[in-house]
Amino acid sequence: MASPSLEHTPLTRLKGVGPALEKKLSHLGIRNVLDLLFHLPLRYEDRTQVHAIGRVAIGEHVQLQGEVVSTSIQFGRRRSLLCVIRDNSGVISLRFFHFSAAQKDGLRPGSLLRCYGEVRRGRTGMEIYHPEYRIVDKADELPVESTLTAIYPATDGLQQGRFRSLIKQALALMEKGIEVREYLPTGLLERFGLAPLNEAIRLSHQPPVEAAVSWSDYGGSPGQRRLAFEELLAHRLCMRRFRQHVLGEEAPRLAANERLQVALLAQFPFELTQAQRRVGLEIQRDLDSGHPMLRLLQGDVGSGKTVVAALAALHAIGAGHQVALMAPTEILAEQHLSNFSRWFSPLGIAVGWLSGKSKGQQRCQQLQALASGDCQLVVGTHALFQEGVDYRSLGLIVIDEQHRFGVHQRLALRQKAVSKTLNPHQLIMTATPIPRTLAMSAYADLDCSIIDELPPGRVPVNTAIVSSDRRSTVIERIEKACLAGQQAYWVCTMIDESELMQCQAAEATAELLKQQLPGINVGLIHGRMKSDDKAAIMAGFSSGATQLLVATTVIEVGVDVPNASLMVIENPERLGLSQLHQLRGRIGRGHAASHCILLYQAPLSHAGKTRLRVLRESNDGFYIAQKDLELRGPGQVLGTQQTGVMNFRVADIARDASLLEDVREASELLQEQQPELVEPLISRWLGDNVDYANV
Ligand code: ADP
Ligand code: MG
Repeated sequence: MASPSLEHTPLTRLKGVGPALEKKLSHLGIRNVLDLLFHLPLRYEDRTQVHAIGRVAIGEHVQLQGEVVSTSIQFGRRRSLLCVIRDNSGVISLRFFHFSAAQKDGLRPGSLLRCYGEVRRGRTGMEIYHPEYRIVDKADELPVESTLTAIYPATDGLQQGRFRSLIKQALALMEKGIEVREYLPTGLLERFGLAPLNEAIRLSHQPPVEAAVSWSDYGGSPGQRRLAFEELLAHRLCMRRFRQHVLGEEAPRLAANERLQVALLAQFPFELTQAQRRVGLEIQRDLDSGHPMLRLLQGDVGSGKTVVAALAALHAIGAGHQVALMAPTEILAEQHLSNFSRWFSPLGIAVGWLSGKSKGQQRCQQLQALASGDCQLVVGTHALFQEGVDYRSLGLIVIDEQHRFGVHQRLALRQKAVSKTLNPHQLIMTATPIPRTLAMSAYADLDCSIIDELPPGRVPVNTAIVSSDRRSTVIERIEKACLAGQQAYWVCTMIDESELMQCQAAEATAELLKQQLPGINVGLIHGRMKSDDKAAIMAGFSSGATQLLVATTVIEVGVDVPNASLMVIENPERLGLSQLHQLRGRIGRGHAASHCILLYQAPLSHAGKTRLRVLRESNDGFYIAQKDLELRGPGQVLGTQQTGVMNFRVADIARDASLLEDVREASELLQEQQPELVEPLISRWLGDNVDYANV
């Protein structure tokens, strides 16, 4: 029976693919012949002509053909095999540092050889190191390639040649008429200027020679563009499907609670900003809709997201439900605990705490209070949703995610919360703004509220980029500021992600600064200190007793001391721009002009300086995040490179960002006009590992 389509054609249909190779390919996510064709080249080489040896130049990538003149082992600093070939225009040497005896024997003088590689200046003149080559049978002349030659990304022990031959077979099946199902309607292809799928595939693997080799850098290939479009579309459809499913469910109606809201606002020495009020209403509308809220709350550091989240929590509590507030780290969670306890206790609301470190009786009591409903707001870490944690009536989950939770984690968490009690509303706060394009794909399942206004009276922080050579000048400046009654942070960073190393570095720095600044009261805070100690240190800094606070990047989150107006960040080149901006947001909260000194380790690369300059030039978190995206890529910006959230096969968010707006439009058109195509598209690109979508 003929296979119905390439998607349903097993790899073993290809010559040379047995169970072992099939398994190897499946590790690369290649499960059928169409998947194989979705494994696109990294770049292309032009092997459509044979160059004259006498006319090649250093730096060129060339295909040559010549007769082997001599083959010999060279002894020098490194042993190598040198093979000299010649055509009627000149001679050139091929050099191999890794070679076998059999290889040497194969390069017999007099035989004809075809090779491809980059020409460089070697000991004997023009040389090519490790060219791809083969011996040509003189009797039947080897044809040159008629299309550009694809170079594939590493395929785990699979040779380029072998992989290329698999692709060739797969393309042949396609030519023979085994169908590649086109899921995108013609109208849509035309509207967005996309090639049909089979054409896109052929173009991607065997581009015509006329196509500029400038495709080599790959951004512009129309084949790749079409495939990336379809993949991004599938991802978006998947997230939207999940969203629709959730929105179709019922959730408790949480009417606005005026009484609690007024009581909370009365505690604050400020009025809400216009933006806070608008976003507050957006949330209120969701909470009262009868369907689960799925909302992302964005705003620059210091824009007052916590207050908005607190108001949302009051509506849930006022309606008789519980609220869980989850933070990615213990320290951030503690900061929230201290804020919310201070704000909510006067309102008679019971605030609880649950983290991974909660043990014994404390944990036991807390679990009981959650199960009975006595605890109305609980703050904590992942522990809030572990086995054995049951809520009486969880109405709202607030996640302060600080870019650390990926889509999958977020959805898994939701699933857990749902299975326990009600279908809760969900509010996600990001600590730093996310560029629009990125938000559009990574958070396509969420509605987005943006606080686009800072509270009045904030003075922009002045940022200077200073070499570590001038460390002593910086220390003098801190001394002067502290003696004049100001307070300062000194932030230590580490390349090594290990928390222990970070803390040790901070300890050493604090010691040194104490010696260098005998008249100044120096404090130290880091993540490995006991909670009580941390609280004492923070209290000392808040009261002004501590003048200089040495810290690891833990202060990135939450700390709020308006009198602190100076910040030194050591080795800022190690951190992302958004993270630096977040750190810097700890100052500039009071009335004094604030200064941030980025004390980099000299020498700093040109790119490194360019990056830091973005911070000196801007105080706008959205702009900085966009630059961070351009300079470092989406994984870094979202902080999710390990979680595989943004793992695409063909697409690349940074490179394909320009497609996202069209993808959004296309997803709506498709859903409206041909909803029956949604399912097959999702399963083609995401396979079966979308458990959260199979709801
Ligand atoms: P972020 O958005 O970074 O989480 P926070 O919610 O921590 O910001 O708020 C930063 C600081 O601004 C806090 O000290 C908070 O009390 C204060 N704040 C919040 N809203 C306002 C406002 N409308 N006017 C003045 N200060 C505000
Ligand atoms: Mg915050």
